[in-house]
Amino acid sequence: MLFEIKPKSRRKDLYDREKELKEFGDALKLGENLILILGIRRLGKSSLLNVALNELKLPYAKIDVRSLYFTFGTIPQDVLVREILESLLRSTRRFRKFRVGLERLVDSIEGIEVSGLKVRIGRKVHLIDILEKIDSWGERVIIAFDEAQYLRFSGLQYDGLIAYAIDNLPNVTFVLTGSEVGMLHDFLGLDNPKKPLFGRYAREIVLERFSRDKSIDFLIKGFSELSIDVPQDEIEDAVEKLDGIVGWLTMYGYLRGVRKLSHEEALSELLNMARSLVREELDKILSHSKRYGMILKAVSLGNERWSEIKEFVESKTGRINDAKFSILLRNLVKYGYLDKISGKYRIPDPIVREIIRR
Ligand code: ADP
Ligand code: MG
Repeated sequence: MLFEIKPKSRRKDLYDREKELKEFGDALKLGENLILILGIRRLGKSSLLNVALNELKLPYAKIDVRSLYFTFGTIPQDVLVREILESLLRSTRRFRKFRVGLERLVDSIEGIEVSGLKVRIGRKVHLIDILEKIDSWGERVIIAFDEAQYLRFSGLQYDGLIAYAIDNLPNVTFVLTGSEVGMLHDFLGLDNPKKPLFGRYAREIVLERFSRDKSIDFLIKGFSELSIDVPQDEIEDAVEKLDGIVGWLTMYGYLRGVRKLSHEEALSELLNMARSLVREELDKILSHSKRYGMILKAVSLGNERWSEIKEFVESKTGRINDAKFSILLRNLVKYGYLDKISGKYRIPDPIVREIIRR
């Protein structure tokens, strides 16, 4: 169902993204070791990743790095190892050919016990040893980190580890997704000579919002799956307000088509649901500085220029020096909460903009 709220994992539930899936497949065919899936929240990165991994019929591990970070406050190596191995085992459930070999491989690692799909780690293990072992298996294995920018919150240098793996482990391909595109780029440092991944090639698959025509077609197809007739003007109004962000289009379709709300009710319930989601997402950065909230407020109210935004923020929270203010602005761009286009700032997501403005 196109209007299923959870991230998609089957091709038939995924609207379009043909080009992106093909690019993903091409990168793997060429044996590339680093694939990035980038784009602001709710453009369908996790969905694309799930579908791509399911279609490939290769062993893979998929780790939700954000949820690990929120559970542990850091990314502990033993937890990561366990998650990778358990996820790998799960992914080969349906392929006997891989399953037996993989179980044997994991079982042969000292300090690790496998029972069914569960992995127990008896003593300290190093991720790099595990990856070497996996590489030596001889099959291509994909290690996917969803919301990978959270890997930076760790005592361990996962960037260095990925660099080592890319240089030395030809059978391992890393796929990293990131909503905080700037943060992910900073963490990886592909063009930062001071960082371990400097100079490495990465395939970048950038997800864009749907065009107006695609958004309309998406809603029409979704409603027709549910055998529901929705007036064209309502569809166009929703498309206008949700600006091609598939996550919001899906939520609208779900509220309208599955929950059977009217057009107005669906939009207002969408805003309700979005409010708690967005608050939760913003919580972390607002805990770093209250000024982030003020900057977003300023921009949501139509202040676009550096100086206008600064003036607004200062009128609320007192003087702030230029350099510090610039850093805060730049961080919001890196987190994906602001866009900067020819010197003007904007909140890229219309629903986030609306929520902050109120
Ligand atoms: P992201 O990981 O970029 O935040 P998700 O993959 O979680 O985005 O998708 C957000 C929402 O949009 C989910 O409800 C998901 O089901 C839906 N969705 C994303 N991409 C598509 C697509 N191509 N077709 C249909 N629904 C999609
Ligand atoms: Mg996601």
